[in-house]
Amino acid sequence: MKMSEMFFTTLRETPSEAEIPSHQLMLRAGLMRKLASGIYNYLPLGKRVLKKVEEIVREEMDKTGAQEILASALLPAELWKETGRWDVFGPEMFKLKDRNEREFCLGPTHEEIFTDIVRNEIKSYKQLPFNLYQIQTKYRDEKRPRFGVMRSREFIMKDAYSFDKDWDGLDISYKKMYDAYCAIFDRCDLKYWVVDADTGAMGGKDSNEFMVSSDVGEAEVAYCDECGYAANIEKAPCVNRPIHAEEAEKEIKKVATPDVKTVDELMHFFNTTADRFVKTLIYAIDDKAVAVMLRGDREVNITKLQNLFKASAIEMADRNTVENVTGAEVGFAGPININVDALVVDDEVAHMKNFIIGANETGYHYENVNYGRDFKADVVADIRNIEVGDPCPKCGKPINIARGIEVGHIFKLGTKYTEALGATYLDENGQEQPIIMGCYGIGINRTVAAIIEQHHDDRGIIWPMSVTPYHVIIVVASNYQPEQIQAAEKIHYELVSRGIEVLLDDRDERAGVKFNDADLIGIPIRITVGKKISAGMVEFKRRDKADSIDIPVSDIVDKVI
Ligand code: ATP
Ligand code: MG
Ligand code: MG
Ligand code: MG
Repeated sequence: MKMSEMFFTTLRETPSEAEIPSHQLMLRAGLMRKLASGIYNYLPLGKRVLKKVEEIVREEMDKTGAQEILASALLPAELWKETGRWDVFGPEMFKLKDRNEREFCLGPTHEEIFTDIVRNEIKSYKQLPFNLYQIQTKYRDEKRPRFGVMRSREFIMKDAYSFDKDWDGLDISYKKMYDAYCAIFDRCDLKYWVVDADTGAMGGKDSNEFMVSSDVGEAEVAYCDECGYAANIEKAPCVNRPIHAEEAEKEIKKVATPDVKTVDELMHFFNTTADRFVKTLIYAIDDKAVAVMLRGDREVNITKLQNLFKASAIEMADRNTVENVTGAEVGFAGPININVDALVVDDEVAHMKNFIIGANETGYHYENVNYGRDFKADVVADIRNIEVGDPCPKCGKPINIARGIEVGHIFKLGTKYTEALGATYLDENGQEQPIIMGCYGIGINRTVAAIIEQHHDDRGIIWPMSVTPYHVIIVVASNYQPEQIQAAEKIHYELVSRGIEVLLDDRDERAGVKFNDADLIGIPIRITVGKKISAGMVEFKRRDKADSIDIPVSDIVDKVI
């Protein structure tokens, strides 16, 4: 590619709206331009990098046997209403209406859509398991779009969904994705942690986030060098996330009339809904809200439980205790004046660990609460973040804390969506069973930004070979020397014919400008054709090394390859 013909400009100054290196460099190197808050256009160099990352993701997904499809980004409201997420998703969802007043959204994620595709096609256990994925644009009206494409409102996600007939199958599907994610991020030359992100709210069992270590990361990671433990600090023990009773109240007021009003009815509900019964904790927060914590069996129908508890928290609190309740992790709250002393917390509950409690509102939860340690009888007390030097929850050695960028996230979803949408199959005995699901996401643009965060210096980007927009840049020191131009074009031709991606800087600029731009855009190998070409020599320099060497032009292709 001749740079004299390329649609490309670099910026000398750092744009003032860009706070972090990747954002600054993506603008300065001409990879992208802002269109509106959290919305960007990619220019030729940026698009090439996106494609490289997409291709790595695609190759590793295909290796696992996952199959690529492409769903629509414009999604009818009905499916989201079927699972209840039309209301739950909140202001992050871009909603719109068509000319006939039908409701739609721009897809923020695609669990509903993939489950719908599958429920329409799958009948028998013989058709399971499989994994479908897509690389597609997602829309989230982020409260605070920032850091360029790191947190944007339109972004490209690789999202995959596995469908299995049983939990053992899901474990295998999940492990395949886990390994594929490691391969992907290794190939992108990223240093990352795979952290525990077990989350009750998703209704699943296991969940891991892939966190790229970086000072500009919005997440905090607690990790242990000794035993390899790593957790999103929000998920690690001793978390301090305040629950606002007022918010809880607002949420509760939205709740529908309960269909269960007494503990007897509640017990009947559980007896007919769940397979095994474990525990409950009823708890007062700020003297105003009561939280109910359930933990246990994963076969429970979470949607039903959620509906129930939104509605019956008050009833339950009045009765002080409920025994033998089951469920995966769900926590809800309601406004209430309760006599805290009257609450019964049985001995077993008191020794349980890693509860979630809180209000029915994202962000208003305490996670991994340990009764006794984190809670006194009636107040939220003595909760603090895990800190550097605290004992590792796994091995007890001192913990470290660093910031991380969430580039990927994998979940064992179970039956949350398949039950809500009736995606079932007939098993070997002709019995109808819900399909067991997993979901797996990677932010493509965010991965590009994370790569830049880990691969740059004060002169610009230093692309890893695997994702660089071009492998080699040939700088012609003086455009007025036909000998230089001819030699550069010959090298260009020879490299390209061997499959190397080459930029030829034949712009009418001073050599210094070209060198600065080459450093800024971060091409891993620079070949300079200057005066020494008359002696048959060119200069070879790697972007990540300070020194350059002169080598005979006849050796240059071998040197690059
Ligand atoms: P975050 O915690 O940063 O808001 P998330 O947990 O909401 O991310 P997921 O729903 O897990 O994101 O989506 C899967 C992946 O999509 C994330 O791991 C991330 O790489 C990417 N992603 C999510 N939101 C954005 C965004 N606003 N801009 C760019 N990439 C994003
Ligand atoms: Mg988010
Ligand atoms: Mg997240
Ligand atoms: Mg996530």
